[in-house]
Amino acid sequence: MPQELLLQVSPEIAADGALLQQYLSKQIKVGVNDIQHVTILKRSIDARQKAIKINLKVVIYLQGELIQEPTISLPDYPNVTNKQEVIVVGAGPAGLFAALQLIELGLRPILVERGKDVRGRRRDLKAINRDHIVNEDSNYCFGEGGAGTYSDGKLYTRSKKRGDVTRILELLVAFGATPDILVDAHPHIGTNKLPQIIQDIREKIIECGGQVLFETRVTDIVIKNNEVQGVVTQKGDTISANKLILATGHSARDIFELLDRKKVFIEAKPFALGVRAEHPQSLIDSIQYSCDYRGDHLPPAPYSIVKQVGGRGMYSFCMCPGGVIAPCATSPGEVVTNGWSPSKRDQATANSGIVIELKLEDFKPFEKFGPLAGMEFQKNIEQKAWHLAGETQRVPAQRMVDFAQNKVSSSIPATSYVPGTTSVEMGQVFPGFLSQILREGFTEFGKSMKGYLTNEAILHAPESRTSSPVRIPRDGISLEHLQIKGLYPCGEGAGYAGGIISAAIDGEKCALKIAESLNL
Ligand code: FAD
Repeated sequence: MPQELLLQVSPEIAADGALLQQYLSKQIKVGVNDIQHVTILKRSIDARQKAIKINLKVVIYLQGELIQEPTISLPDYPNVTNKQEVIVVGAGPAGLFAALQLIELGLRPILVERGKDVRGRRRDLKAINRDHIVNEDSNYCFGEGGAGTYSDGKLYTRSKKRGDVTRILELLVAFGATPDILVDAHPHIGTNKLPQIIQDIREKIIECGGQVLFETRVTDIVIKNNEVQGVVTQKGDTISANKLILATGHSARDIFELLDRKKVFIEAKPFALGVRAEHPQSLIDSIQYSCDYRGDHLPPAPYSIVKQVGGRGMYSFCMCPGGVIAPCATSPGEVVTNGWSPSKRDQATANSGIVIELKLEDFKPFEKFGPLAGMEFQKNIEQKAWHLAGETQRVPAQRMVDFAQNKVSSSIPATSYVPGTTSVEMGQVFPGFLSQILREGFTEFGKSMKGYLTNEAILHAPESRTSSPVRIPRDGISLEHLQIKGLYPCGEGAGYAGGIISAAIDGEKCALKIAESLNL
């Protein structure tokens, strides 16, 4: 019988198959050559002690035992060319996984995406980084693969349903992601690997008879007697169908405005906002691994920190080890930061959003905007930051200790944020209460993570697109909009997901509910 074992080994042993085999042979008291094969089922890092250990769950196959590696393959997707059509707006993780699930259920998705395909999108990312030009339909948030394409591709989620998470991870592996994501406690894919996976998903959708329309922005939703009839695009075309999955993400302000204008019920939703902090990766490694140099076998260290400050949660968000800060504005006249990493996370810097929970009452100065008050609060900060940094894609920046001590930084070194920075006292970017909490919070962070509060760390502002500022409410069982039949608000933009995995899970859930409503 193959033997399953939980063990803790040094990073050197975990990284080298031959060393691991030798180690295991001693543990189970057999000769090295008696071990035919070792499969790693789970892997995580235990950095609580000075000597860092890797936790492994392995299966050991001795000579003569049958090796049973799980085979990961794509579902048997049928051809859906002449099947009932469902419109899916938005080709982010929610829209793409909704489309795949619809096909699996025998329905034909028409996937409508305002942005370009992954390759076309690259040119627009270059333009925002180098020339400060923001294309309102093609940027770090909009285009094939959605906001997740040019990201760190972290695949962990707080979702409690492990089965759903595993299904999405297995589909990603079947579409070309490394099988390591099924093993690692904190899996990630990396910005260099994600585009090919997304392109392969799109090709599968088309091969099965689904339709994918790029550079097609939805400008109206046709609704009669509170029932969806289709969508109108910026080209003036109408696409008809009475089932619509709306998966347009947290940055589709025009969709929120459209729904508000059409008196489709939406509501303001609290989100979180703050700055993006960048440290040298070696400094984060030394804090997290308690060492001067992390060596060749440990990955660049991540961190996760949360504190209660002034009655609110202040926490790290979307931390990117060995990553780069990206310009994530979706309109001219604003600046927004977020971060990405390549699969090896081999850049010299570590960045993370450091954000504070907002409350609905914070949006009071914008109450005349009704359900869009939070969105206007967010927009106001992004526009103020744009103005303060010189009205390009440069962002306001300040050294961390200077910020905590309310001092303008006399110099800002080059950071990974390609469009550049302008030294600004951050207190000018945010409402007073937010600046105050951030200042206190960084001091608190410095107490928990010795070395974190340093002038080597540079703050960039703002980190403002953490989750949707609007909820598009839906029925908890049918997942249909509370008022409009056939409308399925989906993913992060509707307020039902946060991150790649949970958005993909929500896409699948909406597709399943549509099939259920059609008795399929
Ligand atoms: P989105 O991905 O936002 O997709 C919405 C899509 O709808 C977009 O493609 C958009 O172009 C399209 N759209 C919008 N309006 C219209 C319209 N009117 N007509 C047609 N199409 C429209 N999450 C993680 O889990 N791990 C990470 O490491 C991570 N890193 C990130 C890094 C960056 C730089 C960014 C920006 C985000 C990151 N995120 C990460 C967040 C993650 O990308 C999102 O949570 C996720 O993509 C949400 O999925 P979604 O499908 O709901 O929406």
